[in-house]
Amino acid sequence: MIKDILLEPYIDLKTEYYDLGLVHRNETDDKVTVDSANAALKYGVAVKCATITPNAARMPEYNLKEMWKSPNGTIRAMLDGTVFRTPIIIKGITPYIPTWTKPITIARHAYGDIYKNTELQVGEGAKAELVITGKDGSETRELIHDFSGTGGIIQGIHNTDSSISSFAHACFKYALDLKQDLWFASKDTISKKYDHRFKDIFAGIYENEYKQQFEAAGIEYFYTLIDDAVARVIRSDGGYIWACKNYDGDVMSDMVATAYGSLAMMTSVLVSPSGAYEYEAAHGTVQRHYYKHLKGEKTSTNSVATIFAWSGALRKRGELDNLPGLSGFADKLEKATVQTIEEGVMTGDLALLSDIPDKQTVDTEGFLTAVNERLAAMI
Ligand code: NAP
Ligand code: MG
Repeated sequence: MIKDILLEPYIDLKTEYYDLGLVHRNETDDKVTVDSANAALKYGVAVKCATITPNAARMPEYNLKEMWKSPNGTIRAMLDGTVFRTPIIIKGITPYIPTWTKPITIARHAYGDIYKNTELQVGEGAKAELVITGKDGSETRELIHDFSGTGGIIQGIHNTDSSISSFAHACFKYALDLKQDLWFASKDTISKKYDHRFKDIFAGIYENEYKQQFEAAGIEYFYTLIDDAVARVIRSDGGYIWACKNYDGDVMSDMVATAYGSLAMMTSVLVSPSGAYEYEAAHGTVQRHYYKHLKGEKTSTNSVATIFAWSGALRKRGELDNLPGLSGFADKLEKATVQTIEEGVMTGDLALLSDIPDKQTVDTEGFLTAVNERLAAMI
């Protein structure tokens, strides 16, 4: 509907289409997901709809051959990408932290640490060690803990220089794109080798490859301890990118999304270190609404994040192909969307949050039509 109502009447949309619907992924043994990721790498700009990650309930529902993996996971791995999530800010929908007047974009390093861990329970009397076996067979050992008095638990985690570097490159590139400061934080005072490595890799890449560009753009790279970062974020007015280690990003992105109001107002961009961009909404397929739709009932589903996925992609395409008209259209599409809500026309989820006095709740299509009325007037 977004394409039909808001895009195709205005622009010559030359897209290559990959159907990532669960039915088609199943038919192609998930090959279509790999093809779509290759296309994103080839063309440099992609838009993705929310997709179902199958669970046990979906196996009989869709008669699946296998419990296919998360398409986002597959695509992220192939792009070696970092996900940036940004809230869309609207007058009349006040964040829970009212000083956050500008968006805070969270970049989560989506590789390693506790998400790829090895854990063991340890019995009393045991001794746990870290052992590295070198290429030449030599062993380096380090005592983790002597459990002589009581049993306990241990955990082995890792990260790689190449993954941390890719993360850093994606963050520096995206900060330059948005012309916003980049913050990064870890716990290097406590974790003098592990977290310190993150700090050093970021610092090295910044000094060697981005410092001049940052200075020319008038933006800053700022490193601090994670607890200091959290305190500063709460006091800030937003308007920067916050790069987070995997666990911090997992936790903080949910906090930031909630504080800004609604998951339906959160965009998400996957950026590869090579400079490919995949835009999507941060929310999922909104299952409850879909089942209503299947029963022929009207839904009031918020399309703003998906509209912004399109506008982000079109703006990027415009930049890459030197088509200012296309980038200009993207700006107008966003303006028309925001204006529609600020004038009081919105979907049900926002009506619950908004303090605009005369608001009108519309259904899914009604919202798109209302945006189109304003868009048409701008063009
Ligand atoms: P979800 O689709 O984001 O929906 C969670 C709830 O948030 C909805 O039930 C709805 O609340 C509200 N919501 C989210 N987006 C909305 C929108 N645009 N307009 C109005 N309300 C919205 O998450 P989920 O229910 O956990 O997951 C559903 C499916 O999506 C799963 O199969 C999951 O695998 C998939 N998923 C995909 C992605 C992705 O592709 N990036 C991300 C997350 C989840 P109410 O029901 O109260 O109205
Ligand atoms: Mg989370």
